[in-house]
Amino acid sequence: MELEKVYEPNRFEPHWAQWWIDARLYQVDLKTADLKRVFSIVIPPPNVTGSLHIGHMLDHTIIDVAVRWHRMLGETTLWVPGTDHAGIATQMVVERQLAEQGLNRRQLGREEFERRVWQWKEEYGGRINEQIRREGASVDWSRERFTMDPGLSRAVRETFVRLWEKGLIYRGAYMVNWCPRCQTAISDVETTHKPVEGHLWHIRYPVGTGQEFLTVATTRPETMLGDTALAVHPDDTRYRHLIGQTAILPLLHREIRIIADQAVDPNFGTGVVKVTPAHDPNDFEIAKRQNLPFIKVIGEDARMTEAAGPYANLDRLEARKRVLAALQESGNLVKTEPYTVNLSQCDRCKTTIEPLVSTQWFVRTKPLAEKAIEAVRSGRVRFIPNDREPIFFQWMENIRDWCISRQLWWGHRIPAWHCRNCQQITVARETPATCSHCHSTEIEQDPDVLDTWFSSGLWPFSTLGWPDATEDLKVFYPTSLLITGFDILFFWVARMIMLGIECTGDVPFREVHMHGLVRDAERQKMSKTKGNVIDPLLMMDRYGTDAVRIALLISAAAGADISLKEDRMEAGRSFANKIWNASRLLFLKMEQSKIEHWSPDPGQPLAPSNAIEDSWIFGRLQQACATVNRALSTHRYHEAAQTLWDFVWHEFCDWYLEAKKLRFRSDSGLDAHWQAALTVYEATLRLLHPFMPFLTEELWQRLMQALGPAKRPKSVSLAEYPSSVPAPASEAAPFLLLQRIVEDARKQRADRKLDPKATLPAALLMRDYEFSPEDLSIVSGLAKLKIEQRRSENLLDAFELAIQAPASDTDAGRQRAAKEIARLENLIARHKQQLEDPAFLRNAPERVIAEKRAKIAEYEAELAKNRMLIEA
Ligand SMILES: [Zn+2]
Ligand SMILES: [Zn+2]
Repeated sequence: MELEKVYEPNRFEPHWAQWWIDARLYQVDLKTADLKRVFSIVIPPPNVTGSLHIGHMLDHTIIDVAVRWHRMLGETTLWVPGTDHAGIATQMVVERQLAEQGLNRRQLGREEFERRVWQWKEEYGGRINEQIRREGASVDWSRERFTMDPGLSRAVRETFVRLWEKGLIYRGAYMVNWCPRCQTAISDVETTHKPVEGHLWHIRYPVGTGQEFLTVATTRPETMLGDTALAVHPDDTRYRHLIGQTAILPLLHREIRIIADQAVDPNFGTGVVKVTPAHDPNDFEIAKRQNLPFIKVIGEDARMTEAAGPYANLDRLEARKRVLAALQESGNLVKTEPYTVNLSQCDRCKTTIEPLVSTQWFVRTKPLAEKAIEAVRSGRVRFIPNDREPIFFQWMENIRDWCISRQLWWGHRIPAWHCRNCQQITVARETPATCSHCHSTEIEQDPDVLDTWFSSGLWPFSTLGWPDATEDLKVFYPTSLLITGFDILFFWVARMIMLGIECTGDVPFREVHMHGLVRDAERQKMSKTKGNVIDPLLMMDRYGTDAVRIALLISAAAGADISLKEDRMEAGRSFANKIWNASRLLFLKMEQSKIEHWSPDPGQPLAPSNAIEDSWIFGRLQQACATVNRALSTHRYHEAAQTLWDFVWHEFCDWYLEAKKLRFRSDSGLDAHWQAALTVYEATLRLLHPFMPFLTEELWQRLMQALGPAKRPKSVSLAEYPSSVPAPASEAAPFLLLQRIVEDARKQRADRKLDPKATLPAALLMRDYEFSPEDLSIVSGLAKLKIEQRRSENLLDAFELAIQAPASDTDAGRQRAAKEIARLENLIARHKQQLEDPAFLRNAPERVIAEKRAKIAEYEAELAKNRMLIEA
């Protein structure tokens, strides 16, 4: 059997991705599964509108390594996939589509709009799942969930009703970030901040009889129409006599109180601030403390309300112009100065956010947070690494109530009905026909939907069938592990812990592993505007999925952010290519040697092999197994990947197979050589499988095919993960000595510019060991020498190698050295010239200059070596 010459992942990756699904390899059947050892994990549900980005791929790759490893350890392993309905994101996608047809959602009505969103979901919502298949994620597709599935929606209702009945959900006034374009409240994380050039306007307010004035500075003069107080710091002696008096609001001539509040900074501006409770988050807090009235002068449509008097119905910006003109005219605008304003914008549509007070639904989080803190403190949930714990505790101890209502149409509608007759609220699991208080039929469901994080907070158990006591829930809950990015610790991880304990009485997962964000090579956050985004789909096309996976894993040290550039992926492909070529050679030799019967049996010790490379490689393989298993069990995925990279590339391919290649040339002891080589090769494929599933499946299947029928797993992913190898008592020293000799020979050849292709005679003096003739031929073969070996007990080192170069080769070496000298001299001169150029020195970064200096030093060292050769 022969492998194709070139490693072309696109030839076999799609095939195996589909085969794993068709063969239902990762689908758990509880009727036949062994339930003594169970491993379960849920995918962080990507947005149904989403397209795979590099952050997803990092998540999925790390999870897949953990999942494949546990499966190969023989545990019943479940990975639940699924997507999030992503309220605002999805609604906006569909609204944009409608806008193209000249429609908006209000024209369609709520029911029709929801139908259109479902239609969109059916048509396009599967895209992200297609991409997840391509990553090779070994999920159980038969258990795929969507946060708006009937079952999961029932879980949402159940949770809402329970929390309401326990008094943990309430309605209240709340200052929200309002997007007038999207017509909904949006969370802080959905807003972006942009500094823009604006103004600071100084406005004076007459006090008492109008003899005295107080001046305040504001960036938003139109909000003054909603002022209900002026505030000073209680210790500010300048204003102490005015506290408790009233001021007159210019333009509207309303009387407002002058109050004292600790929140006022006496050193900012004049030390007096206007208080607009309905339109500023800080003022909102002051007003709640001081019982000030709220006057809403800007409406949800960003137009002024009736309360704005003569400015009613004006757009907020138009109102600003008119207010300023009127203030100017009345002499109350005392100063205008330029000022940089930190403008809040809607992350999605870039409209300027309007802070508004509105009635929203809240979860009382304090009692939930206390239990979550206890669960982490007691170790029922473990953070690995645990350096994020202090941040978690700090946040949870100061947690604010969670605003869970959103003014959207797409999502879980709040299961609360308002009674037009008695104004009371009925909260129910099933849609009620009448008001539970007065039995009126005049009831209407609350128009709001729940924050998307509410349903994703139930994800680990709603996906397993909760609130029903399903078999899945019994077997797989609490889940074993959660792997996600640090950035959603509070939005998602903390809420799952709170809601998990509240709903199920148990924690949702036992361990949490958080990785950092993927950044570019300069450690900048990736963003479309910066143009530094690495697109995983493109990378998979270009380098193959396995290459991208191993590149991500090697880069992902736990906890730290990941700096990624494309050459990592290129290196990943070189690695895969190296394995491919090594395998190709092995397969070719196998055919020549007519190997037919080899059945690896992990339980059976090998027939002892006397070959020095076997003794050495089994020790190395043993070491790699131990390190990789230990690293995986402590979530050090990058360390596991790096260990395998080094073992496979620099030990197995570069040394072991090179040595074996020479052994296969001879006729003696072939069986033992093949037995050893295939045992190491097969174990290496299994060891590497969780990291590079496609390449290892392809090679393992081909190997099994070549070896003929036998009773073995269908797929390498179902084979046993190597925890130890049946290593014969191993003596690594002779092979280590061989490596030193070969390296010494290579160095001598390079230093002396000897013909790299010619086999040269050499004398090898050995102090305390002697290679057998067979082993000596391996040393000779690897070093491209014809070695005479002699014992000599007077050596300082373990060996001494003298290569005898023929005169002609020495001459050729001199010629090569002379050429090299000319080249180096030229290079040094060019670099020096640049370093003497003042313009270059002025403009070049420090780093570049330092690099140039280092290069010159390097060239000079080379130059000295070559001069020695010529003079020798
Ligand atoms: Zn918006
Ligand atoms: Zn009623």
